[in-house]
Amino acid sequence: MSSTPQKFVFVTGGNVSSLGKGIASASLGRLLKARGYSVTAIKIDPYLNVDAGTMSPYQHGEVFVTNDGSETDLDLGHYERFMDVELAEDNSMTTGKVYQSVIEKERRGDYLGACVQIIPHLTDEIKDRIHRVARATRADVVLVEVGGTVGDIEGLPYLEAIRQFRNQVGRNNCVNMHLTLVPGVGPDGELKTKLTQHSVKELRAIGILADVIVARTRRPLTREMRRKISLFCDVAERNVIVGQDSDHLYAVPLDLEREGIADAILELLGLENTTPDLAEWEAINHTLRHPKRTVRIALVGKYTQLKDAYISVLESLTHAGIGNEVEVLTDLVHSETIEPENADKYLRHADGILVPGGFGDRGTSGKIEAIRYAREHGVPFLGLCLGLQLAVIEFARHVAGIADADSTELNPMTHEPLIDLMPDQKQTTLKGGTMRLGAYPCVLTPGTLAARSYGQIEVQERHRHRYEVNNAYRETLSHHGMVFSGLSPDGQLVEIVEVPGHPFFLATQFHPEFQSRPNRPHPLFQAFVKAAVVRAQSQGSRTSTTTLETSAE
Ligand code: GLN
Repeated sequence: MSSTPQKFVFVTGGNVSSLGKGIASASLGRLLKARGYSVTAIKIDPYLNVDAGTMSPYQHGEVFVTNDGSETDLDLGHYERFMDVELAEDNSMTTGKVYQSVIEKERRGDYLGACVQIIPHLTDEIKDRIHRVARATRADVVLVEVGGTVGDIEGLPYLEAIRQFRNQVGRNNCVNMHLTLVPGVGPDGELKTKLTQHSVKELRAIGILADVIVARTRRPLTREMRRKISLFCDVAERNVIVGQDSDHLYAVPLDLEREGIADAILELLGLENTTPDLAEWEAINHTLRHPKRTVRIALVGKYTQLKDAYISVLESLTHAGIGNEVEVLTDLVHSETIEPENADKYLRHADGILVPGGFGDRGTSGKIEAIRYAREHGVPFLGLCLGLQLAVIEFARHVAGIADADSTELNPMTHEPLIDLMPDQKQTTLKGGTMRLGAYPCVLTPGTLAARSYGQIEVQERHRHRYEVNNAYRETLSHHGMVFSGLSPDGQLVEIVEVPGHPFFLATQFHPEFQSRPNRPHPLFQAFVKAAVVRAQSQGSRTSTTTLETSAE
């Protein structure tokens, strides 16, 4: 970093949740990076959980895992994918973490007899944590996104901390960017700016002045409306950015670039503006808009009501689609609807079948049926984490003749524990942060599908699990043709399994989806989608108009 002081962009949202603050922050990060600035991002989640690991995917979507093994909000996934950065524990701040440190300090006596209060002790802790990330990453620009909506009681200490932070580091080194909703009302969908005005007023009451407003809207805003927002919200007209819905996620940075978001932010921060290099991003968008063909992947899971529960998997499929110049249409098939008699009905149009991670017994028999279908019908199959464990059980039951093969997670009394708790998990009673988490090395067997797909023989992949393939069964499974193509360096943990003689049958104990990027699809997703393309081609020229019978019917 040069002698220029580090800069901070605080991102808040008003009116409603789900305005796309995460995508807007990630897109801004990409645009700054495209101008040569180094960036990092912090997500603040004002809930009391210490991390997202203990939360149901139904509540908050997927739990993202960083290399250092933190279980975080899914926005960190957006940041990593858009900004192509690697984030760590401190990039995710929660009220649980902040209170935990303050209470630990109080117990240690660090506050020297003071009465410990939200202001200044909690707000100091919040500011220290932002400084800590700034120091550790030395990023030119640190983006700080405050989850939730202005006015939430839970978010107040963070907004107060931001207000103080700006005074500490200097007004010119911080920008407040506020997202609001501009809804269309009435039969003609007339756009209304009143919500934006109210939200900015609410922010002002807390002591924060918005410098940039991103007005989220379905339809374009007229010049007049822009002027109105500028006037009522006390924001320069060029700093009113229209964040109109984009046709796909990866178009957002380009759309916001045209709106001048980075120009506005850089000017406010006093940073030099240069022509951004967005060639790679434009190429990604071009491929997304002009795919050579379509392939259908059936994602068989139990959290199908909420797409966010599988966001990194879905994005990885999109990335592999870009890499193969095809459009990947993913059908979420609810695993509880699949039974031996109806598997064909749900899966016959799939060019590939993917069984993602998961916990608990519910829905696993349908996933096992889907895996069996893929194996027996030569449909490319990719299993992730629980998907590997179930693939091993399916193979043991139907190929290796171990009819009662099971996992102790699904059936604690099983006498054929193909999948069992890892030894170091047996004494673990606390749930939070105690799984095998984060990046570990994996050694591949040369010549296998895994090694060919990666093009190298040692890789690092991120994990989140307690159970593992039971080594006592490895010999029997190998004897029947299963290949353990990826192992931990000491050979003790099975990381990848595959079944040769099949177009593509591979499963991983780790989560490759956390490392895929739009510009660098993960090799295993890339190879899986490639196999799906081959199948789609051999099945004739089906197009995206093909209908699939799914559980949604
Ligand atoms: N429930 C399984 C385990 O803990 C799989 C976890 C996962 O799919 N992330 O090992």
